[in-house]
Amino acid sequence: MLPRITLPANFKENYQAFLNALSKTPFAGEIQTSYAARLTAATDNSIYQVIPEAILFPKHTQDVSLILTCANQEEFRTIQFCARGGGTGTNGQSLTQGIVIDCSKFMTAILEIDEQLNWVHVQPGIVLDQLNAYLKKVGKCFAPEISPSNRATLGGMINTDACGMGSRVVGRTSDHVVDLTCVLATGAVIKTTELNLQDSFQQTILKSIADNQELIEKKFTLAPRTLNGYNLKKLKQHANYLFCGSEGTLGIVTECKLKITPLPKYKKLILIKYHCFDDALRSIPLTEKGMPFAIEAIDEKLIALAREDSSYIYIKDFIGDAKAVNLVEFVADNEQELEEMLTAFCARLKNTLGYYITKDTNDAKLLWDLRKKSVGLISKKQDGTRRPIPFIEDTAVPPEKLADYIFEFKTLLNQYNLMYGMYGHVDAGCVHVRPALDMKNSNDEKLIQELSNKVALLVEKYQGVMWGEHGQGYRCEYGERFFGEKLYTIVRQIKTWFDPYNQLNPGKIAIPLTSKESLVKVKGPLRGHFDKQITPTLQEEYASAMACNGNGACFNYATADIMCPSFKVTKDRIQSPKGRAVIIREWLRQLSIIFPSKIRSKKDDFSHEVFSALSGCLSCKACVTQCPLNVNIPEIKATFLFHYYKRYARSLRDVLIASLEYFTPWQAKFPRFTNWVSSNRLLWKWLRLIDLPKISECSIQAELKKRDKHIFNFSRFMNLSQEQKKKAIILLQDTFTSYYEPHILLKTYDFLTQLGFLVCVAKFFPSGKPLHVQGYLEQFKKLVKKNSAYLESLTELNIPLVGIDPSITLVYRDEYKKIVKDTTIKVQLIQEWLVQHLPAKRILQVKVPVFYLLSHCTEKALCAEAEKQWQKIFNYFGIQLVPLTAGCCGMAGAYGHEVEHVDYSRQLFKMDWQRLLSEHAGYVLATGYSCRSQVERILKTTLSHPIEVLATLIN
Ligand SMILES: Cc1cc2nc3c(=O)[nH]c(=O)nc-3n(C[C@H](O)[C@H](O)[C@H](O)COP(=O)(O)OP(=O)(O)OC[C@H]3O[C@@H](n4cnc5c(N)ncnc54)[C@H](O)[C@@H]3O)c2cc1C
Ligand code: SF4
Ligand code: SF4
Repeated sequence: MLPRITLPANFKENYQAFLNALSKTPFAGEIQTSYAARLTAATDNSIYQVIPEAILFPKHTQDVSLILTCANQEEFRTIQFCARGGGTGTNGQSLTQGIVIDCSKFMTAILEIDEQLNWVHVQPGIVLDQLNAYLKKVGKCFAPEISPSNRATLGGMINTDACGMGSRVVGRTSDHVVDLTCVLATGAVIKTTELNLQDSFQQTILKSIADNQELIEKKFTLAPRTLNGYNLKKLKQHANYLFCGSEGTLGIVTECKLKITPLPKYKKLILIKYHCFDDALRSIPLTEKGMPFAIEAIDEKLIALAREDSSYIYIKDFIGDAKAVNLVEFVADNEQELEEMLTAFCARLKNTLGYYITKDTNDAKLLWDLRKKSVGLISKKQDGTRRPIPFIEDTAVPPEKLADYIFEFKTLLNQYNLMYGMYGHVDAGCVHVRPALDMKNSNDEKLIQELSNKVALLVEKYQGVMWGEHGQGYRCEYGERFFGEKLYTIVRQIKTWFDPYNQLNPGKIAIPLTSKESLVKVKGPLRGHFDKQITPTLQEEYASAMACNGNGACFNYATADIMCPSFKVTKDRIQSPKGRAVIIREWLRQLSIIFPSKIRSKKDDFSHEVFSALSGCLSCKACVTQCPLNVNIPEIKATFLFHYYKRYARSLRDVLIASLEYFTPWQAKFPRFTNWVSSNRLLWKWLRLIDLPKISECSIQAELKKRDKHIFNFSRFMNLSQEQKKKAIILLQDTFTSYYEPHILLKTYDFLTQLGFLVCVAKFFPSGKPLHVQGYLEQFKKLVKKNSAYLESLTELNIPLVGIDPSITLVYRDEYKKIVKDTTIKVQLIQEWLVQHLPAKRILQVKVPVFYLLSHCTEKALCAEAEKQWQKIFNYFGIQLVPLTAGCCGMAGAYGHEVEHVDYSRQLFKMDWQRLLSEHAGYVLATGYSCRSQVERILKTTLSHPIEVLATLIN
């Protein structure tokens, strides 16, 4: 049985005393100290793991000032802090053993905009895409582009001086900052525009800078992606250049006034095809005029991986037989200029396999998606137990030296026989590479230092930098070597001046001259140290949690994206796939190392924290396909609950939900009585439910038999010819469209028979979905085996098996396949089957309104084509159907009915669904039962299933 897990004492004493002192101030933010919360801030996208003491979520500048003023008291000078935004850093920049100051929860406001003077004033926790979505409405944008733009914050971008595609033209983040409000280590609030370094800096620092002008000029002008942070060359122009890229080591940014840029009027993307990556790097003349806005290269390995990806079908024709490609984008203010640049550029190309000029924005999006996916494609690829990891992932050299540099870089990696793929910014000389290593293996672990050292030497040889894009973080041990001793001393002088007690992100970039502490080191503390303590059996059982690499794609801010509703609605990182994965890993580690005798009390058990992190998951499965590593939280949740409930008692509510499919057919025999009982509010209260849907009074089985008394009899399929079988179908029942909305099953039957199909309906049987969601894994397994035997027998008839409700139908394809391997069972969604079996002749030609489609999250997650298939079917009948982009409706099975989740459920509904339903009132269709019942409950309107509309119109 699962042992209880008591964690070591929660806090270091000085931290406890500090938090007590802080809570006596007017600090308006949130203080989190649970182990689960601390774990969620213990990783970023790097190979490191450091568990902080606490996390503070300030609301405004004053809160941050209160934190640092309090910490500036003599007794608290040992308290250390690290600011955090999206936590997407790849080098441990936002990790600390001290206190995390997380600006991403509350400090997300857009404070002011001046469209004439082209600036916007924001809080640092705002996400880049969120800001750009706002600016787009006024035809502007924040120009620096970075890949994780849907989750990285402006505070993080400023502090890593982030940049990405197009940086040769656009520059880095620091080039777009007007003014920063920063809280210094003393708690003092300053504005960079008002900070006169001549007056405020120690004369010694200014003298050192003046004395080393030549050296500074030389060092900071090498590569386009020059050294970031503490920009000694530009800080004379503006103090912004001091703070930008300083990784929170000089102060905490609490407000930012940023330059905004008009959106480019015309853009064109070309895909250039090559025999090999080397040709891609050498073929573009980088020095000539008319240079494109961006040139991004993708190597042979990644193109090969892209060919295996489900989305490749859309770009297959563009890529053809290319082994490597360059994506080249031009921007201009008018079409003629764009055409001229393009023609001149194409004429200069050499050593190519040809090129493809994108026809429209859709083509361009598909190709840019390939580039954006590169990190995900390579991260997913395993080499035995080795996985691609970032540690030398963004070196940059002068662009004209890039091809030679890459040749040597690849030779080095090949000497170690490592699997890797490369992509990057050709125009900026910056290349991304993640060699595959097993961080649980001591020999591979040693390679981190060894390879980093060798790459540092190579970069030096080519006069480049180790951190061309993602900042220094744990690689700052190479800082002195890159700055040189003289300049690095100035860097340390600056750190000393701003942070004499080494309280701000200590160990990163530089240590104050007065401090005895040391810099963080490339070699650790590594996440692998924690992971390798987990027993191999547990690693295997929870493989998907082990796979999470922390890239944060699940923190996607956009409400219309399906990933991840529980995070979006709670804004709590514990309630995200990443949060859950990291908490589970720690739980597994504890399980692997603890001795049950140490357990103190039932209440202390860490498993309760794990339970609470997982119980907020809606099991929508968005993470299963949207996460680049396919981290499968619903599967992890089911496995965890299975073990958890071996120790702890289940609630009656869970038991009832899990057995819903078993008792509903019985309830349906007495619908009025059932509805009378289930409308009892006292019963709801007792079960901790908010409401219950009403069962239908129509007897589905009788109605079906009325239509055809042989409807459940498959023997008539036995003697059909192959040709006749093409017109036959077996519908599988599910609880929802049989007992709650039987008219949908009946309409489906009517519609299909009307189209000339011979339809049989399989007798109702429980699918087991609620059992799985609730973690009744033994019962689920038994049921799957039994059902599979039955479904196999139906499969032998060689007649398509089709389900109506997406979330149930997809269980046969997803969870069943994990239990019954090598099965021939194939259950299709109704639209998947119908789209391939539409009768030869189009039947409807009447004028009908446009319909809109809201699909079920699980359907969107697991069947990328689902909406397009509905569209095709509707178009076939001459009806226009427009899929709407929306996140989760908030119902997700029982989630929306549960007392503890109902508020979140309603908030989720408000995010997209409510607005879309009012914009297109009367014409919205929904594929999921959960979604329809959510709409009925909140808006008191009934939505139709698409098949109902077809059945009604085509009669
Ligand atoms: C898949 C992937 C692709 C990436 N691609 C790019 C890319 O194209 N270009 C690029 O530049 N980077 C890239 N990165 C790196 C990373 O996204 C950037 O460094 C980004 O700017 C970090 O933003 P964040 O909000 O996540 O910051 P965090 O990671 O939370 O923090 C980054 C640093 O900023 C500091 N910080 C954060 N907020 C504040 C504040 N308010 N005050 C003071 N200090 C603060 C932190 O202490 C830390 O040192 C990529 C990362 C991933 C995972
Ligand atoms: S769960 Fe997936 S998307 Fe989220 S951080 Fe982990 S790997 Fe990235
Ligand atoms: S299943 Fe849905 S709610 Fe649960 S973690 Fe994954 S995306 Fe989030």
